[in-house]
Order: sequence, then C-alpha cells, then structure tokens
Amino acid sequence: MPAPSSVAALILAAGRGERLGHALPKAFVPIAGVTMIEHSIRALSASGSFGLIVPVLAVCDFTRWKDLRLESIEGLTEPVEGGAERQDSMQAGLGQLPEQIEFVAVHDAARPLVAPEDVRAVVSAARKAGAAILGKRVRDTIKRVVDGLIVETPARDECWAAQTPQVMRRDWLCEALAAAGWAGRSGTDDAQLIEWLGQPVQIVEASFANPKITRPEDLVLAEALLAERA
Ligand code: C5P
Repeated sequence: MPAPSSVAALILAAGRGERLGHALPKAFVPIAGVTMIEHSIRALSASGSFGLIVPVLAVCDFTRWKDLRLESIEGLTEPVEGGAERQDSMQAGLGQLPEQIEFVAVHDAARPLVAPEDVRAVVSAARKAGAAILGKRVRDTIKRVVDGLIVETPARDECWAAQTPQVMRRDWLCEALAAAGWAGRSGTDDAQLIEWLGQPVQIVEASFANPKITRPEDLVLAEALLAERA
C-alpha cells in the first residue's frame, strides 16, 4: 500500500463557469464568504490523503490565486496553467507531478462541498482496486435520448451520477490518455478514459451532498448545505 506521499490531488479550476453568470471566474466565486477553490482545497487537505495538492488555473487567475490565504496547507504547490478543455487541464497538472506519485485524484473545484470522509473513502478504494470515483445513485429514471426520441431506459438501480474526486493509478491514467489521444477521443470525466482502457473502476457512494456548482441556484443550495453542516 503506497504512503500518502505517493498520492497527489489535482484541483481543476481553469474553467470560466459562464453558466453561473457571475462576474468572477467560477472557482473564485465565494460560498459563505470563502472561494470555491479554497473550500475544495481545504476539504482535500483535511482528508489527510495527499502528499501533494496541485491547483490548475487559467493563467489570467494567477493574481487572484496570490490573494488567497492558503500558506498553512501542507503539500499545496504553485498553480499550473490549465488548457482549453477540462481534459487538457487535467493533463497539464498530471505533467507536473514528480516521479514518486503513484496515484492521482482529480477533483473539480466546482465541487466545493466534498466531505473529507468521502475523499478518504474514495482514495482508499482506489489504492485497493486501482481506480475509484465518488458518485451517487440517481433518483430519477434515466433515458438515453437521440434526436428527441428515447432509445433506451437503463435499469435505474444500475444508474449512478459520477462525481469527483476520481482517483486512479498514475500509470493507468497516462496509458489511457495516450490511447484516447491516438483514437482522437476525449472523455467527459477521467473514469471514462480508464473504462476505455478496459480497467475496472469502482464507485464509492458519497455520504454527504457533493453537488457541482453550475447555475446561480446551485450557489443558494450550497450555502444552505454549508449552514446545515455548521
Ligand atoms: O465546466 P464544468 O463545471 O464541467 O467544469 C468542471 C471543472 O473542470 C471545473 O472545476 C472547471 O474549473 C474545470 N475546468 C478546467 N479547465 C477547463 C474547463 C474546466 O480546469 N478548460
């Protein structure tokens, strides 16, 4: 079992978050007075699972980063410059990791409510199985729709919503990225790359709400959830 010093977290925060309709880039929008990126970093750090925490930002946000007060966070590195798409940002962060890193956890800064207990659970599952992600069973019946017509109704008890962190062996992720590059495919999450590689990915049910902040109403929900936890 590798020591935490061989596990790194990448915090993806290079998106603009236009659907949020806020003047600030999404990761720097405050929830209960604290920026989303700071909530995410503090939760990952509190899990005690990582030797390194690497923020990935748009270069235009490096000045904003300097205004955050995160000196006390152990293992937190200087920001890495992200790319045009989420997968490009993940790859940019991955490229900066030192050789001793064996497991990589990818977390969206847009999920600031992730609980340290859940982070610990998903990292521990990945260290046993090779890859694991946090997720939630869906309550709605899911329909697969093409051109406005339903083409499939997957069994609801087999459907989950994928969240982050998504944690996997570094060598699997590098191999999966290379294979996706040759095939000209890009995944909407990190697990999909590992699935394409044919490796198993475990899902760990989140025990605390871990919504992705996308629209203005999600900010209201996040503030209410934080107030309830406090
Ligand atoms: O846009 P969406 O909410 O799906 O983005 C998920 C996460 O990926 C966000 O935390 C966002 O900052 C990050 N991202 C990134 N680089 C991009 C696009 C998105 O780091 N080019």
